[in-house]
Amino acid sequence: MKSGVSILGIFVADTAYLAPRMPALGETITGSGFSVGPGGKGSNQAVAAARAGAEVSFISKIGRDTFGDLALKTYEQAGVTTKLTIMDDQPTGAAFIYVNDSTGDNAIIVYAGAAGTIDVSDVEAAQETIAQSAVFVTQLEQPVEAALHALKIARSAGVTTIFNPAPAEAFPAEMYRLCDFIIPNETEAATLVGFPIDTLDDAQSAGDVFLSRGVGVAIITLGARGVLFHAPGESVHVPATSCGPAIDTTGAGDAFVGGFASALSRGAGPLQAVRFGCATAGIAVTRRGTAPAMPMLSEIEAVMAR
Ligand code: ATP
Repeated sequence: MKSGVSILGIFVADTAYLAPRMPALGETITGSGFSVGPGGKGSNQAVAAARAGAEVSFISKIGRDTFGDLALKTYEQAGVTTKLTIMDDQPTGAAFIYVNDSTGDNAIIVYAGAAGTIDVSDVEAAQETIAQSAVFVTQLEQPVEAALHALKIARSAGVTTIFNPAPAEAFPAEMYRLCDFIIPNETEAATLVGFPIDTLDDAQSAGDVFLSRGVGVAIITLGARGVLFHAPGESVHVPATSCGPAIDTTGAGDAFVGGFASALSRGAGPLQAVRFGCATAGIAVTRRGTAPAMPMLSEIEAVMAR
């Protein structure tokens, strides 16, 4: 019997450097702070879904190095089952994040490392994990051919598919028809449909475009305005869940996707799962960090019961 959530994606170690400005080429400057923590959309979504009560398998590749150890420790703590290939000749992915210490603006370099080599044969090796799960989730941080192949496996096994088309990169049109749910944020949705999304009407028009391309349901996340759930014959605006002042919205989208997938895998209907995803993200934005900010099931249930 199918159960749980399988996720194909990448892990990167987020290394954040605070400084008054970016150094010029050839220059060294003194920073004012540093942190290192687990990141990568798929990895964050896996942690969010596991903490939110799902059995989660995370499919990826990491290197045999210090950042790889950070990944393994993250999954052990969150209770995520790892389906990881550990490579000897590639580093674990890492992100350099420069954060301006007065404005908070950032500039980022991401290198996917081992996860950037995920190919169709790696996905084939994970076929059983995908086919046995109730819900499959992927994004676009690993090579697109791998995401496409995994969605095909999930669809032909009757697994509910969720595609988070982030970052906004080009992908083959056939991927739309493999999605039970597509979950872009408003910027990604605007890039995909080719017009800006400023109002709920715009989001509904974008939802119509996604449906015409073959997705089952489009769920467009709208930041503090919540989510537009757009299914054939049913379009519902679900407001964001406020759980206190938002102090760090990084990873809000990953919290939403992880919470949504968790609720679906445990039998919730799609709209109920959207509300659960909003509660998950609503709590996460009140805490610093990405993976460490993801709430536990009991916390989400307490918010849902209000
Ligand atoms: P990120 O790229 O930072 O991970 P995103 O752009 O993918 O985020 P958003 O649309 O900003 O995703 O947010 C996802 C969900 O998180 C929203 O649909 C909403 O439910 C919740 N959320 C975001 N910001 C807030 C906020 N300020 N207060 C409450 N909930 C929020």
